[in-house]
Amino acid sequence: MFVGRAGTAMTPGLGAGPKGAKLTVNDLYGFNSRKPKPLGVAEVFGRYTSRPRDAQGQGQAPSQAQGQQGCRDDLSSQILEAARRLMEKRRLELYLRECDLSVKDSTAHLTNMPYRNLGKCGLRVSCMGLGTWVTFGSQVSDEVAESVLTVAYENGVNLFDTAEIYASGRAETVLGSIIKKKGWRRSSFVITTKIYWGGQAETERGLSRKHIIEGLRGSLSRLQMDYVDIVFANRTDINTPMEGQSERMVFLIETLFTELSCFMCVCVCVCVEVVRAMTFVINQGLAMYWGTSRWSAMEIMEAYSVARQFNLVPPVCEQAEYHYFQRDKVEVQLPELYHKIGVGVMTWSPLACGLITGKYCDGVPDTSRAALKGYEWLKEKVQSDEGRRQMMKIKEITTLAERLGCTAAQLAIAWCMRSEGVSCVLIGVSSTEQLLENLEAIKVLSLLTPELVVQLDSVLGNMPHSKKETRH
Ligand code: NDP
Repeated sequence: MFVGRAGTAMTPGLGAGPKGAKLTVNDLYGFNSRKPKPLGVAEVFGRYTSRPRDAQGQGQAPSQAQGQQGCRDDLSSQILEAARRLMEKRRLELYLRECDLSVKDSTAHLTNMPYRNLGKCGLRVSCMGLGTWVTFGSQVSDEVAESVLTVAYENGVNLFDTAEIYASGRAETVLGSIIKKKGWRRSSFVITTKIYWGGQAETERGLSRKHIIEGLRGSLSRLQMDYVDIVFANRTDINTPMEGQSERMVFLIETLFTELSCFMCVCVCVCVEVVRAMTFVINQGLAMYWGTSRWSAMEIMEAYSVARQFNLVPPVCEQAEYHYFQRDKVEVQLPELYHKIGVGVMTWSPLACGLITGKYCDGVPDTSRAALKGYEWLKEKVQSDEGRRQMMKIKEITTLAERLGCTAAQLAIAWCMRSEGVSCVLIGVSSTEQLLENLEAIKVLSLLTPELVVQLDSVLGNMPHSKKETRH
């Protein structure tokens, strides 16, 4: 019986085509020959920094005309995506029939979990991934961790994220022990970990070749695994990249975007050390892919150009914060990187650490993250003026969610999943009840009509500037 988790029929295509364009047969069949607009680094960063803001520091709400144009654009994208999904499903069915298998046996069919390619690489990841920050090895017992992981896996979640720093390594230990105990096939799930903070010693931190290699070996030993699927460089290392402590070079990027007819001459300082070390761990079989976490678009471009220049392995994915109140990077900069260099996006904190569920609207519950020792910063954040303003918006959005028949958490997670270029949304939960609730976000995804997205935009009032520009 076919029980593999890799190929699935229910595959929403990413980057669903040119917005606002008329659909052609080529578009529908995914053979769009139209070249994307060339990326200018100055353009990306200029746009990012020069966003006009109103007196409250918010972006402006979309005008009615922009909203209508936006609806049409989003509708075209949705139709295109649905057509592509159908095509993929049909192709898979034909292939499976040749192999005397049925698509009904696939995990996607059994669980309804949508899977997406991670950026433009071949790895298929569930739309929702489960993270272990705060919870595993710390806030929740090992028993709760086990039941959460089991429910996630059984509901089609195939990506589990951790880091060497989480609970000082205990998150990796707990995750690894549960997976070993469960006996799940290693090929049926994706493990991602992040390297940066590994210990007290100066040499146990940062992104030196030494720490990347030793740190990853440490993670593997705690996870009791031979390899992770993706190793992330968790932040850029201010010591490693720029200041000449390691190999430093300044060179002209002339031909990086030749295919896109965009010749750029940009002086870039690049740390080759990180890319070389990541290539080494991949060549050694300690990781399948590598990615970046909290890197700027410019830094990701640097890594990519170094990899091209020296025939090394480029990053496949960026882990970035994304939720109602943190939008610019994921909505403005990263889609351009996705189109130009294929780097995908795995987003984190879709509920802004729980705030978006509305649980902090009437104070800080004793059992919540903001009440935990060590998370006083979160408590201060939710009780700040900004936090209160955000909660007012959450109240409005909760009313919208109720009208849709879902919860605020489900709507927020679905809203993250609908964003172009987002391969996987990393969620965190402190109980199986929360997980079961959040998994239902998959159903809410189809309720997110363009009109509803515009409505949410006007409540939030922070649509990134360049997104508005594209809707004229
Ligand atoms: P969320 O923003 O989704 O916050 C999760 C927390 O919100 C839960 O632990 C729980 O906290 C609360 N919550 C979740 N669902 C519900 C619900 N339905 N009802 C009420 N409360 C709920 O995600 P995280 O901030 O945990 O981030 C997710 C993952 O992303 C992390 O585990 C980690 O793997 C990754 N990450 C990566 C980072 C990076 O730098 N690359 C940084 C941060 C996270 P409680 O019940 O305790 O209040």
